[in-house]
Amino acid sequence: MDSRFYSRVCPGLIINIQRSNGQIHEAKVKTVRVDGTSVSVEWTEGSTLKGKEIDIEDVIAINPELLELPAADLKENFPFQENVSVQKQKRRSTLSKIPGPREAATPNVSTPEQRTPAARGRSRMSVIAESQCSLQENEMGVDPCTSTQTRNNSSVPAGRTRASKMNCVPEASVTNLNGNTEDHLLPGRISSVSPVRRRSNIVKEMEKMKNKREEKRAQISEIRTKRAQEFDSSCPNWEFAKMIKEFRATLDCQPISITDPIEEHRICVCVRKRPLNKQELQKKECDVITVPSKCVLLVHEPKQKVDLTKYLDTQTFRFDFSFDESSSNEMVYRFTARPLVETIFEGGKATCFAYGQTGSGKTHTMGGDFSGRTQNASKGIYAFVSQDVFLLLNQPRYRSQELEVYVTFFEIYNGKVFDLLNKKTKLRVLEDGKQQVQVVGLQERQVSSAEDVIRMIEMGTACRTSGQTFANASSSRSHACFQILLRRRGKLLGKFSLVDLAGNERGADTSSADRQTRMEGAEINKSLLALKECIRALGQNKSHTPFRESKLTQVLRDSFIGTNSRTCMIAMISPGMSSCEYTLNTLRYADRVKELSSHNGGGETQNQMETESEEMEGLSPQYNLCKDEEEELSPHMFSFREAMTQISEHEEKVVEQLKELKQRLATKLDYLLGITEQPDYDLETFVSTAKYFVEESSRNFLSVGETLDALGAAMQLEEQASRKMRRKRP
Ligand code: ADP
Ligand code: MG
Repeated sequence: MDSRFYSRVCPGLIINIQRSNGQIHEAKVKTVRVDGTSVSVEWTEGSTLKGKEIDIEDVIAINPELLELPAADLKENFPFQENVSVQKQKRRSTLSKIPGPREAATPNVSTPEQRTPAARGRSRMSVIAESQCSLQENEMGVDPCTSTQTRNNSSVPAGRTRASKMNCVPEASVTNLNGNTEDHLLPGRISSVSPVRRRSNIVKEMEKMKNKREEKRAQISEIRTKRAQEFDSSCPNWEFAKMIKEFRATLDCQPISITDPIEEHRICVCVRKRPLNKQELQKKECDVITVPSKCVLLVHEPKQKVDLTKYLDTQTFRFDFSFDESSSNEMVYRFTARPLVETIFEGGKATCFAYGQTGSGKTHTMGGDFSGRTQNASKGIYAFVSQDVFLLLNQPRYRSQELEVYVTFFEIYNGKVFDLLNKKTKLRVLEDGKQQVQVVGLQERQVSSAEDVIRMIEMGTACRTSGQTFANASSSRSHACFQILLRRRGKLLGKFSLVDLAGNERGADTSSADRQTRMEGAEINKSLLALKECIRALGQNKSHTPFRESKLTQVLRDSFIGTNSRTCMIAMISPGMSSCEYTLNTLRYADRVKELSSHNGGGETQNQMETESEEMEGLSPQYNLCKDEEEELSPHMFSFREAMTQISEHEEKVVEQLKELKQRLATKLDYLLGITEQPDYDLETFVSTAKYFVEESSRNFLSVGETLDALGAAMQLEEQASRKMRRKRP
């Protein structure tokens, strides 16, 4: 044993040790065996004090710098603990920048002593995360340049010196020692000269140590490779993935469970995260959503500082319920639409909306799982509601009430209604003097079992997606509304409307170069804004509901009024990093829907407003979904909207005029020609009638012409406004 080394290892010294799992961390030397072959060390893990006996060779292999340090330096070695703590502190404060969930755990930054028993599970994970980092720091010291510099630079903090020396110094000292000893290792002289023998023992010792060291290095390098594979560098955002993984390790997640109580809300706003899909997994997309508890959802937004440092901006959202990727449709139904079913038996109206970006899982949740192009309609909320309606219908208290069940299924595309149970026939929406809205000619199909309903859902879905290369092509631009109506002797008792909304990202298409896309975008935007306002009005029991703003809200008007109307919105989100921006928009929208509803007193929302006002300045298209107060709109946006309204009004008018004209012309022409077929018709009557007909028709055509002119002018106005808006956007 090298006496230099022996003299340096003494009780109280902080050294590095390696655990059986390869992890390296610090420990304090407790005792040194008198023969110098081993030391006992101790360290704390959580609140437990641990210890073990380590072979001195292992100590040397992991702490070769001890050989290097003059005995006097040993004292400087003691503050290592503090230096390391400072580094850890820094790392902790970086972590603590990430705002923690309100209800769930904030990343645990307390010392083991300060932790509560409940937090111990979490703290264990954060220790592991830290020790992984400390290994990396040591590994960084492998860089030969850093090591040389540090070795020669006495002003470098002790912690760093140590890390660097650990990897570089031993090689030099071993070579040096070998060189020296080789001169003396002449056969025959060893036995006679005792100092030489001692040296030869040292050489052997050193070689053994060297081998051990190399072995350890190989082990460390293996661990490093394994870790690198875990965050494999082919994953484009592995650094963020690693940060998120580390963040999650500090949380004690408790997702919603079937045993959680079902709460009754007049307005219930929930969020559902779907799992990463096959394509996202193939692209090694990073999952940026964490659901730590049944009400909270976190978005880890990847960000980069000006100096290119990557960091996570974690935003917390709180809803009535939040469902993670493991939640089934049944589970989502249990807490969202199911509590509303009874409402319709009590003469009320219920609505449930699936809101979100295209591909986030709206149709999957409402209509049922898809496998390829076929949909398992029995596993969606439409079917679950129908099943429960029939279940209740057969209960003694309702069985005697002569209730009949009907369903309707229609689509609203570009402000027009199409009947999905009648070959997508275009339907007219009429409003009478008493503001009663009627969808003229909408097919109501009577159903007598849940199976009947599933057949209707399949029929409607097939109709919705027919003639399309893939299901999402136009369904993402339309709202699908499935309704279950309860009638008693023909009179409407209650109604449950389930709406699979258009993809909210389509609302941002208002800057497209193509008018059709622009108009669709504007219509979607308008209807989603109107929907939000109508739900908010319902939540605040406002007497005025702005339902006339869009076809969607107009058609659903009766569901937004009355004391016995209840609604539920499920915000669907895709977990991938590439969807992050839209996901945040979806969550902000959902946040605004529930913001003022009476059951949460309006005080629950977090500081999303700041973000929104930032977005305002750039007039991001998505902003429209969050901020809608007109005075805050740009004049171009205002004219654009105005023009859109005019276009749809004139378009509707011109179609009506032409239809009416066609009917009138046909009838009048039939009548006129009928006159001429009489053998003794009066020529004078014929001429005057025909002249009147021609004049009247000309007037009608002129009127159509005027509407067409107005439509053309509105189209021009829209074109100009949209061009100005596009110019304003980056
Ligand atoms: P959207 O209607 O919002 O555009 P879809 O419901 O069509 O989205 O979902 C897009 C894809 O993701 C579909 O292939 C669907 O099967 C799948 N998907 C959505 N939600 C889930 C989920 N919770 N579990 C498994 N797959 C899902
Ligand atoms: Mg869909």
